[in-house]
Amino acid sequence: MIDLADVQADEPGRNAGNQRLELGPSILRGASALLWGLANGIVHAGHRAIIGPSVHHQDSLCIIARMSEPRVAAEECVAIGAAQQQLEPYPGRDVRVGDLRVLRALPVKGRRLIGPWCFLDRFGPLTFAGGTPMDVAPHPHMGLQTVTWLLDGEILHDDSLQQEALLRPGGLNVMTSGNAIAHAERTPADNTGRLNGVQLWTALPERDRHGEGSFQHLSDIPSIEFNGGIARVFSGTLGDMTSPAQHFSDLVGADLQVHRDGTLTLPLRPEREHAVLMLNGAAALRGEPLQPDTLYYLGTRRDELAISSTGGSRVLLIGGRPFDETILMWWNFVARTPEEIRQAREDWEAHRRFGDVPAYNGPRIPAPDLLRLATPNPVS
Ligand code: MN
Repeated sequence: MIDLADVQADEPGRNAGNQRLELGPSILRGASALLWGLANGIVHAGHRAIIGPSVHHQDSLCIIARMSEPRVAAEECVAIGAAQQQLEPYPGRDVRVGDLRVLRALPVKGRRLIGPWCFLDRFGPLTFAGGTPMDVAPHPHMGLQTVTWLLDGEILHDDSLQQEALLRPGGLNVMTSGNAIAHAERTPADNTGRLNGVQLWTALPERDRHGEGSFQHLSDIPSIEFNGGIARVFSGTLGDMTSPAQHFSDLVGADLQVHRDGTLTLPLRPEREHAVLMLNGAAALRGEPLQPDTLYYLGTRRDELAISSTGGSRVLLIGGRPFDETILMWWNFVARTPEEIRQAREDWEAHRRFGDVPAYNGPRIPAPDLLRLATPNPVS
């Protein structure tokens, strides 16, 4: 199966050599403790001994040893693999959405999905004295959900279901395309002169991607307060908190606010893969500073996440069970086959199936030429 997102996200050299492992300091502590333990004959027989200070089990070094045959039994220790937790930085790239410059954090070369999350655009923060920095004319979607979340400013949504919603910080717009929908998104005339937010997409599973489109606006979403900060759960489930936003896969999407001089520690589900993107301020994962405009892939097998900040920070967390369907992304469509893409493009061009967006005063966005199948970026 070809995956055109490969080509779409391909920027030679941007991600070269960015694969590495996170090796916590407790590994070193654990290793010295092991040597010390062996030298002093206190490595226990026949059962697992956790060496080192009482660190979190996922970065502990586990040892199984027999008196006659001391050995490190990595293969028998669930936690040893987790000690080499993935932490892969993927720098985003600048793209234009109309006149608006955005950071496309997903898809990137080498990473197209985080659970069902298949797209992440970061726009702003920016201020403007006039005009409408976001003005995305009517365009179609298929096979996905758009999830829009603001830190500042406003976005006006209009779609082919005749739904209109003014999104403000703290609220959420979720549009489920099903098999076909069209929408427009723009800065409203009455605005604060600021824009700062993200738009994400999730790929719809096979069982849900052929259905009707729908739109949901939430003016408020649940949050969880921790010692070190606040988690605003806009999609799916985090801990025992579930967003009322409609979703179709096991996933999480949350805006993590880390307090000044705080460490926010969150429960994660180890069967999910996760990624984080710093939204403002400065934050660190286990002492490792996060770079701006960079998506960090955290892999699976984590049951908690600790983010610290000295000056305060907001960090986007996305995750979900690894998506077990191979998707094909082209322009604003998520499909499975090139034929579906070709048909969707043809239907949009022929004014079939996707509907119009009458609330938007202006021409719609034409589909890119199919001959350039590999090149067009989504318009969001
Ligand atoms: Mn869109």
